[in-house]
Amino acid sequence: MDERYDPAAVEAKWQRRWREGETHQVDLSRAARPYYTLMMFPYPSAEGLHVGHAFAFPGVDIHGRFRRLQGHDVFEPIGFDAFGIHSENYALKVGKNPKHLIPQTIENFRRQLNRLGLMVDWSHAVDTTAPEYYRWTQWIFLQLYKHGLAFRKKAPVNWCPTCQTVLANEQVIDGYCERHPDTLVEQRLTEQWFFAITKYAERLLRNLDWIDWSETTKMAQRNWIGRSEGAEIDFPLGDDPTRALRVFTTRPDTIFGATYMVLAPEHVWVDDLTTPAHRDAVTAYRARVAKMDLVSRRAAKEKTGEFTGAYATNPATGSRIPIWIADYVLAEYGTGAIMAVPAHDQRDFEFAQAFSLPMVRVIAVEGETAETPLSEAYDGPGRLVHSGQFDGQDVDVAKQAITAWLAERGAGQARVEYRLHDWCISRQRYWGPPIPVIYCDGCGIVPVPEQDLPVVLPDIEDFRPDASGVAPLARVRSFYEAPCPQCGGPGRRETDVSDTFLDSAWYFLRYPSADRHDVAFDATLTRKWLPVDMYIGGNEHAVLHLMYTRFITMALHDIGLLPFEEPFKKFRAHGLIIKDGAKMSKSRGNVVNPDQYLDQHGADVFRMYMMFLGPYEEGGDFRDEGIAGVRRFLDGVWRIIREHVSRRLAGPLPMLSDDLRRSTHKAIRKVTEDLDGLHYNTAIATLMSLLNDIRRFGPPDRFVCESMLLMLAPFAPHIAEELWEHLGTVGSIFDAAWPAFDEAMLHGSMIEIVVQVNGKVRARFQTSPSTPEQMVVETALAAVGNPTVKRHVYVPRRLVNLVV
Ligand SMILES: [Zn+2]
Ligand SMILES: [Zn+2]
Repeated sequence: MDERYDPAAVEAKWQRRWREGETHQVDLSRAARPYYTLMMFPYPSAEGLHVGHAFAFPGVDIHGRFRRLQGHDVFEPIGFDAFGIHSENYALKVGKNPKHLIPQTIENFRRQLNRLGLMVDWSHAVDTTAPEYYRWTQWIFLQLYKHGLAFRKKAPVNWCPTCQTVLANEQVIDGYCERHPDTLVEQRLTEQWFFAITKYAERLLRNLDWIDWSETTKMAQRNWIGRSEGAEIDFPLGDDPTRALRVFTTRPDTIFGATYMVLAPEHVWVDDLTTPAHRDAVTAYRARVAKMDLVSRRAAKEKTGEFTGAYATNPATGSRIPIWIADYVLAEYGTGAIMAVPAHDQRDFEFAQAFSLPMVRVIAVEGETAETPLSEAYDGPGRLVHSGQFDGQDVDVAKQAITAWLAERGAGQARVEYRLHDWCISRQRYWGPPIPVIYCDGCGIVPVPEQDLPVVLPDIEDFRPDASGVAPLARVRSFYEAPCPQCGGPGRRETDVSDTFLDSAWYFLRYPSADRHDVAFDATLTRKWLPVDMYIGGNEHAVLHLMYTRFITMALHDIGLLPFEEPFKKFRAHGLIIKDGAKMSKSRGNVVNPDQYLDQHGADVFRMYMMFLGPYEEGGDFRDEGIAGVRRFLDGVWRIIREHVSRRLAGPLPMLSDDLRRSTHKAIRKVTEDLDGLHYNTAIATLMSLLNDIRRFGPPDRFVCESMLLMLAPFAPHIAEELWEHLGTVGSIFDAAWPAFDEAMLHGSMIEIVVQVNGKVRARFQTSPSTPEQMVVETALAAVGNPTVKRHVYVPRRLVNLVV
């Protein structure tokens, strides 16, 4: 393979060596400079690895290899997020139990991942569907349950009739199921298990100010948490002044303009308040809304609603205002009731127009009077009007002043509200870890004792979900019948399984301890290796997965199981790879299969090409044309190293030109900075231009050749290893040190070294003041034709005398 670059042969050889030499395994307990680099573990689909993985994973691997070359003990694990509805639906389609299918798809993934040449430590791989793993997922559930963070309650949830399970709000797109664009999502009121993530809303938000994450990801999290400051205000009921409807508003300053109230149709007081004359219409309306999902209710354009016949009193104006119900008010936001200020809230404005309700303007802007008619709600700055003693106050001042005034009169108080909901973790499906609790008539909810874990998911033939909302395990008597752990009487196991997002909310804690059967995560290893140094993944996980990992980490920290409360020191979101300007999808027919490219070009060319498509954090457009250029570059590197080796065998090397020395140092500086900032495409461009300089200003010396290979190694690890061996170096290139650049070489502050042979001046050359003695002497030897010398004398920064 020496004379011609043959990627297939080189890659097979090095993948075998890495495997046999366990090059990618780290001794986790002994490592001196631990560095944990994490990629988002894949869900092993039947289709195999897609091009998004082939972009994301090498990007993480390049970072890990770079850190290793910089002297860190890099731990780069991987695993499989193999529970969940995707695998289950596929299993249903082909009529096999996912338990039997998953091992095959994992095997295929493992083969493809290995072809990419990743530095992963397979000895710490995890599979979320293995009982050794989900035993600890169940254990985490129990820890949260014991500390009051897991609870069961009846709640309105999104239900996909096709998936036959509940969906998170984020999985509902314009009212339709994310997986079933033809299926309208329904709303159901059912008993579910929840994690109390809202208790952590403020901390999850506040920590965003200091964690080192991509700004785009932090912004998505801030929006999802959705903190709003406002006031809770009580509106006494018209006919019963001892009772009051409580609302939450972010605009207490506009209370004088509240001309009616709206309750969510699900509000518990609706039945009570509705007068007989309005009962039929209200009942019919509530039935209609019950069929709609939460997301489309939020997005609904046409305003609908019903008057209940009841009235409340505006505590600021003292006037009687009607109480309506409408679908645009959601039960789980705030109190499920609002004060409507049609002049200054667009949805209230549209509703008031549709039902001819009164509008009172309470904010005026310069140059307008309070009587100027509105064509839409005004929610900008201004001064209060029609607001009694608060007239003339700026809205921002009035917010506080009115809240304080209401509080004084016992009618309200300041309050903070969040958009974030508690995390519904139960699923009425088969393919997940059973939730480890037992129901007993006498004792109520009894957690499964820790020593009885795992509650193993049974191997059953009929695992189809059905529309009843009851999980398939509820049909398996041998599963659900279990004695109560407390009283020994007859009990019934929970038959719901937990959300896949719980499996992935803690997997990074498991990796270092993947081989431990006695603990979920070993305390010493966890302290040594965590938090994760660098986590890289897609921004499509900015809210669900990345918020849940933060919550679980914080909860385990508070319970006393983790010494840190944020799981990742750094998180960077990578971009997306598109094709012909569009997202890749089966329906567009523009899906790229990485296998085909790996077959044709090999992993090194493919990895480099993917990274060259565009900035890693932005992504790029996949085009076939560019790939040949990357191949030419690697052919070029191969050639210059081969030439260097044969030239060295043939005799002494000529002296390195100043130009090439300078451009090599420049390249080292630039590539080091670029790798640090994940600017892979510009680092590759720098290597390409260094190759050109080698051709122009060559021949290169050993330093140039080694630097080139070391900088190439993170991107194209196989060819770098092979050529490193050609240079006559022993061991893996990844055990060598990252090249250092010399600032003096860049700025021309060079010194002149005089070369003497037996005391007579024979040559002079320029070098940096910090060049080490060995390299100065080597250059001196080259400058006088590499004579055989007995010894040398070195006067630092001045001269070398060679005694022959
Ligand atoms: Zn669905
Ligand atoms: Zn009992």
